Amino acid sequence: MMHSSDAQGYNPAVPGSYSHPKVPPHQPSGQYNYSGSQNVSQFNSYQGPGQTLNRPPVAPLSGSPVQQTGPVPQVPPPALQNSAAISSAGSFPPGAGPPMLSNWQYSQSAVSHPAGTPPSHLAPGTGTGSAQPSPSLSGNTNPPGSYQYAASPGGPSLHNSFMKPGSAPPPVTQPLTPLHPPPRPPLGPPPVGGPPLIRPSTLTAGPPNTQSLLNSAANQDGDATSAASDGSAVQNSYDAIEGGGLMATPHPSPAPPNLKMNRNVGYSYPALPPGYQNTSPPGAPGMQASALQYPDGSKHFHQPPLGTNHLTASMGSLSLQQEGLRPVNLLQERNILPTTILQAPVPNLHEDIQKLNCNPELFRCTLTNIPQTQALLNKAKLPLGLLLHPFKDLSQLPVVTSSTIVRCRSCRTYINPFVSFLDQRRWKCNLCYRVNDVPEEFMYNPVTRVYGEPHKRPEVQNATIEFMAPSEYMLRPPQPPVYLFVFDVSHNAIETGYLNTVCKTLLDNLDLLPGNTRTKIGFITFDSTIHFYSLQEGLSQPQMLIVSDIEDVFIPMPENLLVNLNENKELIQDLLRTLPQMFTKSLETQSALGPALQAAFKLMSPTGGRISVFQTQLPSVGMGALKSREEPNQRATAKDIHLTPSTDFYKKLALDCSGQQVAVDLFLLSGQYSDLASLGCISRYSAGSVYYYQSYHHKHNPVQVEKLQKELKRYLTRKIGFEAVMRIRCTKGLSIHTFHGNFFVRSTDLLSLPNVNPDAGYAVQMSVEESLTDMQVVSFQSALLYTSSKGERRIRVHTMCLPVVTTLSDVYAGADVQAITGLLANMAVDRSVSATLSDARDALVNAVIDSLSAYRSSVLSIQQPGLMAPSSLRLFPLYVLALLKQKAFQTGTNARLDERIFTMCQVKNQPLVYLMLMTHPSLYRVDNLTDEGALNINDRTIPQPPILQLSVEKLSRDGAYLMDAGSVMFLWIGKNCGQSFISQVLGVPNYGSIPQNMTHLPELETAESIRTIAFVSWLREQRPFFPILYIIKDDSPLKSSFLQNMIEDRTESALSYYEFLLHIQQQVNK
Ligand SMILES: [Zn+2]
Repeated sequence: MMHSSDAQGYNPAVPGSYSHPKVPPHQPSGQYNYSGSQNVSQFNSYQGPGQTLNRPPVAPLSGSPVQQTGPVPQVPPPALQNSAAISSAGSFPPGAGPPMLSNWQYSQSAVSHPAGTPPSHLAPGTGTGSAQPSPSLSGNTNPPGSYQYAASPGGPSLHNSFMKPGSAPPPVTQPLTPLHPPPRPPLGPPPVGGPPLIRPSTLTAGPPNTQSLLNSAANQDGDATSAASDGSAVQNSYDAIEGGGLMATPHPSPAPPNLKMNRNVGYSYPALPPGYQNTSPPGAPGMQASALQYPDGSKHFHQPPLGTNHLTASMGSLSLQQEGLRPVNLLQERNILPTTILQAPVPNLHEDIQKLNCNPELFRCTLTNIPQTQALLNKAKLPLGLLLHPFKDLSQLPVVTSSTIVRCRSCRTYINPFVSFLDQRRWKCNLCYRVNDVPEEFMYNPVTRVYGEPHKRPEVQNATIEFMAPSEYMLRPPQPPVYLFVFDVSHNAIETGYLNTVCKTLLDNLDLLPGNTRTKIGFITFDSTIHFYSLQEGLSQPQMLIVSDIEDVFIPMPENLLVNLNENKELIQDLLRTLPQMFTKSLETQSALGPALQAAFKLMSPTGGRISVFQTQLPSVGMGALKSREEPNQRATAKDIHLTPSTDFYKKLALDCSGQQVAVDLFLLSGQYSDLASLGCISRYSAGSVYYYQSYHHKHNPVQVEKLQKELKRYLTRKIGFEAVMRIRCTKGLSIHTFHGNFFVRSTDLLSLPNVNPDAGYAVQMSVEESLTDMQVVSFQSALLYTSSKGERRIRVHTMCLPVVTTLSDVYAGADVQAITGLLANMAVDRSVSATLSDARDALVNAVIDSLSAYRSSVLSIQQPGLMAPSSLRLFPLYVLALLKQKAFQTGTNARLDERIFTMCQVKNQPLVYLMLMTHPSLYRVDNLTDEGALNINDRTIPQPPILQLSVEKLSRDGAYLMDAGSVMFLWIGKNCGQSFISQVLGVPNYGSIPQNMTHLPELETAESIRTIAFVSWLREQRPFFPILYIIKDDSPLKSSFLQNMIEDRTESALSYYEFLLHIQQQVNK
């Protein structure tokens, strides 16, 4: 072990305030070596089901102590958890336990309610005393091997498929007890309208899970899942806030079900800025920018009558566009790839509605025509789901500051462009059809400054909008931004030289970290021991404290390890300058990652925040130590590859983190196998991000250094949301049953996101639980409640509206092939982990076969030879073939295990646009770029060459081609490439003198160079990661990587596109 504090001159002064019994009175060596046991409460005690869900610091129950600021016991007694579960989830009648279904299909049960019963499906946790039979669960709870995407109940289809045929179980009628009373007495007359409509809670049942410590339904794999009654475990959870908008209430108590939708602010937080900016995201229809002042606070006016419902008025003119249905013979039509990036299909809605719809970059559905029934969906053999990019950076976003956030009393939907106004004072929810009152304040339109125009309010004019949340949306005062960096400083880590790059980048961007005057920062380093750094004000230099007891980690002088960034900037900068040199002589090869993470968690627990951990090898000592599982000789087969974690240590720790609003981002920089399948869990369940720099080395792999720098800069400076939760709602009748992404599912459908970042994507699967009879449209709404780095509580809401159709041909006409592919990829990752890779591959192929068979037998009126697909799905076989050849799912290659796992992480966590690019790269010819059709952005001319098919047939030896595969780019130079390109763009005299390892385009003063660089830079700027550009020739060792991406061509282990089509045709015609 290397203690370099002496050498580095770190001040060994005994911290005055620290009085841990184990602290030696004095250490001559100038360091504190806290070894041996100590009294700090046990860190590692995963004992109870609720433990990971417990969130002690939040407790604003009415009548109970409001906030705890300090650390609190982490493990409540299990019994308490259970009882809490029942009382607050409100899911089960007393005495009734969650029914355990016997199979692992996504079963949902519907709950219907007699007319007149109070609305009940506020999200669990809002305190209904009654019940829905649902141990909720997203599909990630299934034990490996028993996971079925498909298989109709009782039906014959047991082949691999992702579809979920089958119908929902019969509705169960449950008496409901009323909701809690709202914090203030209800206003206005009782709601008008029909009986409350209830959206049944989602069920995903499964066998009791003995392994998990989370309640009966904890997840084993896949994404997060909620424990059966987990939401319950935290009575006073964010669930209550997002779902109910009420301060969580400890015990259900009978009360009138009139939740007030007009949620007045009891008291306001000083952080809430006044003012209203009405701006819009680029390209988002219906978001006219205007600079308007939104008066803070409500205005009281007299309301004039409102016109007729603007939404239904437009409904009459739905007309079908049949282009998507045009039959295409795939075996004949070879030029099906569009020459520009494929756009999302436009939903077939009246233009007045469509222009208000959510931008497809933010919210997308696999089927833009929603099938009316599950039977129709089953027939189509296409997955129904949503793909979201909810926190995407938007250059313009309408932000509303108002004391009144108008939501449906019944289902808590935020008022949105697709509600209908029945008359001057009532609006009808587009998700549950409850009729709600228009609050007085909402009658005034701050945009037009006119009273009596609630339908013209920004909330009703923008499908994407952000609210400044009043205090009811807080369980505690908004947390400060807290950033903790955890660095591997073992010998191996120092060898890679990464610490230099990271510390330098951090130094350069210290002032750009999102935050405010409350921002805190801290550092931990570790090898076989854990080193803390005191940055206490008044110290002349940082002070290193070493804890060598990694079995029972505790935090020395916790008050000085996370310090205010602004007040201690010099000490912090000092540390960042010194750190890279501190361990250069270290011979310590061991890695105590697990204990270091435990320490980090302890340090962060009181506040929440972000942990960024940098790791360069397999953790070898202490909790979470791992053994290598990669067997090089087995790489080539799909069998026996280790896609599942080898320990649940990281997942459990992640759930602890999640409970304390801490997210962990993992940067893995390693040349050797590091078991990302296990390590990645720390980020996945805590809503973190994973970055992987394979074979990072500052000298041997310099191109990775630039990539790390660029991506780290983005990481450090991008927007961040803290203590976030997200809920996705959909119109009654539809039901969400599985979630994909990095998060933990709390209480059925509430995604817990300790951090949310603008680069994360999510997906959900849905089913049609009750027929959507008589509905012309359905809507989907995501609501993300978060604390901004400025300490504001905000809610970002996206709402999408889609038409309902009754025929199979209409379902196909509206299919969004990219969204379908993206969702299938997510499902295939789950399948690979829960079953096998070959099962997942089979299921992907079957998805194509099944849907094209159904199209052929049920939609095509004239049978013809060939392989017929509706135009909307013409790229489906190509995209699925591309998935099969993608690193996540390919066989017979040298894909290293960690690389494969990382690709799977990307599939799960990336927005659709990047997922598509890494699955089916874009190929451009670039040796003849022109300004024709070029974009003009900020005085730069960006050429827009056409996209080519991914086949060597499309390559000409006298050209140069750029392949953009998302996180990597290849510039292939043909042997006979024109001299002018080689000299004017590459800056070398001839083909022979192009260097073998060229990764940069020189900036030359030629038109060709300027065009090419403009194009490459433009491509790079549009994504949050930095693709390395490899310039390759025919004899380049990277040529095989380039050819591997030629999806349409045959490889040693995979079919060509044409062969694949023949295979599909054979199956379809069976
Ligand atoms: Zn509603």
